[in-house]
Amino acid sequence: MNQENHLMNMISRTSISNIFSKRISTTNSRLVANQGLDMETVDKINKLHIVRNCYLTLMEEVNDKENLRYFSNIVTQIDFQLQRLWKFKEDSTYHRFWELPKCDCPKMDNMDTYGTGHRYINPNCLLHGD
Ligand SMILES: [Zn+2]
Repeated sequence: MNQENHLMNMISRTSISNIFSKRISTTNSRLVANQGLDMETVDKINKLHIVRNCYLTLMEEVNDKENLRYFSNIVTQIDFQLQRLWKFKEDSTYHRFWELPKCDCPKMDNMDTYGTGHRYINPNCLLHGD
């Protein structure tokens, strides 16, 4: 299974509510089997998704560039950690950065080049711009 499929599957159809009553993804059981993950790792992945979602919720609540970039960097570190736990290469090419709250980078263009390493950045984006 390639990394793109893996990241698509990370957001599975089943979800549970966290303390912020947001819907969060749970892990895809077939992918877990394919990757040969043990239950301890699956547990870590699920907990990390809860933490990740808390940071996304924080990003929805703040509007200043400094805090948004701070939280955005934490989410990026979490995404690297998730790739590691899933036994995939740590690769920011597969981080869907344009889906972060408050991101104004062009979504369709970034979807089209997903996985190639090319990023379309809006210079006015609070998270990724100048
Ligand atoms: Zn952006």
